[in-house]
Amino acid sequence: MIQIAIDGPSGAGKSTIAKAVAKRLNYLYVDTGALYRAIGWAALTRGIDYHNADVVAPMLPKISVDLVYENGVQKVILDGEDVSEQIRLPESSMAASGISALPCVRQYLLDTQREIANKNNVLMDGRDIGTVVLPNAQVKIFLTASAEIRAKRRLIELQEKGISSTYQEVLDDMIKRDYNDSHRAIAPLKQAEDAVLVDTSELDLEQSIEAVYRCIINKVNSLEG
Ligand code: C5P
Repeated sequence: MIQIAIDGPSGAGKSTIAKAVAKRLNYLYVDTGALYRAIGWAALTRGIDYHNADVVAPMLPKISVDLVYENGVQKVILDGEDVSEQIRLPESSMAASGISALPCVRQYLLDTQREIANKNNVLMDGRDIGTVVLPNAQVKIFLTASAEIRAKRRLIELQEKGISSTYQEVLDDMIKRDYNDSHRAIAPLKQAEDAVLVDTSELDLEQSIEAVYRCIINKVNSLEG
């Protein structure tokens, strides 16, 4: 099986780019952030403090989180219910960022992610895929862009979904999440030593897709050659 790991901060365009590249390669696209978001949403809807491992850990064996694919589109199922839309709300983003710092949550999701990668050719995106989840992935990419550009892109995405927010709110959220993700003790966001850096600040979507696609093809060819 071929494993491609794409890591990077929120709003770097990972999911849009990874989805398009996976389609081109005919690989399964796995958005691992959705798993953390589903657990964050589970805590929010139960009124559980998502920073507190003492209350989150007992919740985990009582919930079920699955990824299913309908016509190639990933859906997140929490306790049998499709929560794909709810997990995109800004409060779910913050809950995911908070809950993902808990070791019990990361451990809980590790097997789920590895199982998927063992059964399929995957293009998996997240924060620690190249460093922790799939350290032997054949291709690793660290995708990034400046915080200001990422906030602008995220604001447009939210507006398109009818979710109201301001540029400053989105930028503040982004900076806070970047800090949380890269400073947590366990599996922090960082570029794997053998990952290729792709900065999309100056690239439009098509150019970013092409850059990532080329990077993968070059790496796979060099492995084969
Ligand atoms: O990628 P996305 O923004 O959907 O991820 C939501 C949150 O889940 C991130 O802010 C991050 O804290 C967490 N996450 C993680 N490890 C991953 C994927 C996401 O910690 N592999």
